[in-house]
Amino acid sequence: MKNIARVAIPVPIHEAFDYRIPDEMLGQIVPGTPVLVPFGPSRRYGWVIEITDHSVHPKLRKIHSVVEDGATLSEELLTLLDWTANYYVCGIGEAIETALPKPVRERKVRQVRWVRGLEGALPDEKGGGADARNRVLEFLQQHPKPVPLRRLVEDCGISDSPIKTLAKKGRIEIFESLPPEFGVPGESLADSIPWDQPAPFEPNDEQQTAIARIREQIFLEKYQTFLLHGVTGSGKTEVYIRAAQTALAAGKGVLVLLPEIALTPQAIERFTERLGPVAVLHSMLPDTERAVHHERLRKGEVKLAMGARSAVFAPVTDLGLIVVDECHESSYKQENSPRYHARDVAVMRAHQLGIPCVLGSATPSMESLENARQGRYEKLNLENRVSNRDMATIEIIDRRKEKGTGDSSGLLSRRLIDLIRQTLDREEQVLLFLNRRGFARDVHCRQCGYSFRCNSCDIPLTYHKHRDIAQCHYCAEQRGIPDRCPQCQFTGLRQRSPGTERVEETLVSLFPEVRVDRLDRDTVTSGRRMEQILQKFRDGETQILVGTQMVAKGHDIPGVTLVGVLDADVALGLPDFRSAEKTAQLLCQVAGRAGRGDAPGRVALQTRQPEHYAIECAVRQDLDELLEHENSVRQMLHYPPHGFLARIVFEDEDEKRTLETAEALTSKLKVEGENRVQVLGPAPAPLEKLRGRFRHHVLLKSNSRESLRIVGRLAQTEKPRWSSTRITLDIDPQNLL
Ligand code: ADP
Ligand code: ZN
Repeated sequence: MKNIARVAIPVPIHEAFDYRIPDEMLGQIVPGTPVLVPFGPSRRYGWVIEITDHSVHPKLRKIHSVVEDGATLSEELLTLLDWTANYYVCGIGEAIETALPKPVRERKVRQVRWVRGLEGALPDEKGGGADARNRVLEFLQQHPKPVPLRRLVEDCGISDSPIKTLAKKGRIEIFESLPPEFGVPGESLADSIPWDQPAPFEPNDEQQTAIARIREQIFLEKYQTFLLHGVTGSGKTEVYIRAAQTALAAGKGVLVLLPEIALTPQAIERFTERLGPVAVLHSMLPDTERAVHHERLRKGEVKLAMGARSAVFAPVTDLGLIVVDECHESSYKQENSPRYHARDVAVMRAHQLGIPCVLGSATPSMESLENARQGRYEKLNLENRVSNRDMATIEIIDRRKEKGTGDSSGLLSRRLIDLIRQTLDREEQVLLFLNRRGFARDVHCRQCGYSFRCNSCDIPLTYHKHRDIAQCHYCAEQRGIPDRCPQCQFTGLRQRSPGTERVEETLVSLFPEVRVDRLDRDTVTSGRRMEQILQKFRDGETQILVGTQMVAKGHDIPGVTLVGVLDADVALGLPDFRSAEKTAQLLCQVAGRAGRGDAPGRVALQTRQPEHYAIECAVRQDLDELLEHENSVRQMLHYPPHGFLARIVFEDEDEKRTLETAEALTSKLKVEGENRVQVLGPAPAPLEKLRGRFRHHVLLKSNSRESLRIVGRLAQTEKPRWSSTRITLDIDPQNLL
């Protein structure tokens, strides 16, 4: 009799657990049903993934109960999640946990309300942090009903600590409750946009060709991955929209993935006004709304889902098309377990369903380009910008040839300052890019060389002038900088590697008559804040915007005619086999921000390595040439896309333990790997010490994914000698630091 259920529980063990199904639940339980099961001394939430008639375990415990109206999983998603857990070597329960937002699982949300009797009490908070607390109280004054905590944090642009402080003071209370009526439309943005707008223009020939090929595949209902390689401003979004229209009109579902940072109200609006109701899934969304969206998708009430990484598991019904925009973005890779890559899971999902998948980018990864070259993906090219706008002209400024610099920070060449001045004189806007925030990284003593480094991470601290502290950008540890060197008492401390804060200060003094603004993680404290800074720039209130890679991505600001890259070489020196690729991609993306309006654009690249092929390819915007260069190196060294890679990281507060564990496991890996898997290391990781832990790593290379996984799994099953040592396995790692 089939009365045994395999139940996936969110723990880092791949296998599911067997339970007996009590007779009275027999008809009720199917694969995908959420259940409560006894687990050790407590009860855990889990999902039935299979029903069977046998188990290797002689004594089985019984399922406690079915979770009434909990979220069920479709068979299609179960298959995909099983593949994910298997491929990335993680627990099936962990994978399921990633796919389902918490309130859908637990149906409980933290909410905030006034304490009885104090309703609407006037804000009068004083002392440190009073500002934030007053904002919370003001917000609650305007919202008499309980507000989800997440929402409060979002809308007030604060952390949750002022809310907790207020709760401690007894002014407000935090409580858990079920989300307000499931299925009732959330007040999300997407609901307020009129939809079904006509197209504002006809697609051009290149767009037509791409749309036609994708449409054909939608009708054929056959798997095919397309690599839509289109320069910035070539109109890729129009291709996605028209393809999506076709699928929706045929009654099918559509899934569109965007990198988190690109999920701006504008992006959502562009899709919604043409395609109708969208379920938007991203991490900034209050849990309740995410839960509502999930429910609507599951019921088939909404057929279009848009979201960041984890939306690749969105429960869209009758899926007919998947789109991954900006498919080269590293944020598609999750950096904790399960360490999945949403682009690859998307391709797999399309493959399992037999539907087309469109990967779009101006700068595809070497893996994607090679897949296209070998015919596994079909390439669709958009080589021209829409309305025949020209690509920006790119000028190299060789910093080695310069005598002296144009400014005190040493960051702006005379030539660049001239270009900025000319642009401002024409009343056009300037975007400056520097991938280093703060005032200066690396404060050191000019006499003895003492350098201020983080005690926990052993990397140079970054000086932040307006807060007058030095901070570690990994663990946030901070310190004041004394007047004298702590080692030799010399008073000549010097700063090296200036950052965005310093650039902003310099610009303000060079161009006192214009407004300068800055976009980086120090100025952007919430999604809304980023929008405000960009909106001011779009409205022309700001003339110069300085920023980190946040400015490089996706923004369409017509007034920008000059883009300056202050230090094109920042990423080239990183110990990562992708450093050239990442440099070229970033430069192409930044360059794409210039000349999106009617006036032609100009890009100035400041570099000390103008002859480096990554810089040369970026100047010509030629990624096919970059692929050729990279292929020759990577083929020789068996790096992706010419071999598969996995990485194992060992971490412990005790350096000896880290190394011993790494060495012990490595010898086992070498035996197991024989001549099928190359085991390199252990070596100190480039970030040797992070948050107080010493780190070593091992790289695994192989021509066979399966062998790689079998060997890699050892890292998962191995019990380290000390419980403090952490071992993590990353399949297809993006981050090698
Ligand atoms: P990409 O994503 O490739 O960088 P977008 O899709 O953002 O480019 O398109 C750039 C701009 O061109 C958008 O404002 C879009 O509305 C417009 N556009 C797209 N296709 C056409 C077209 N065929 N004719 C005129 N304008 C277009
Ligand atoms: Zn640190």
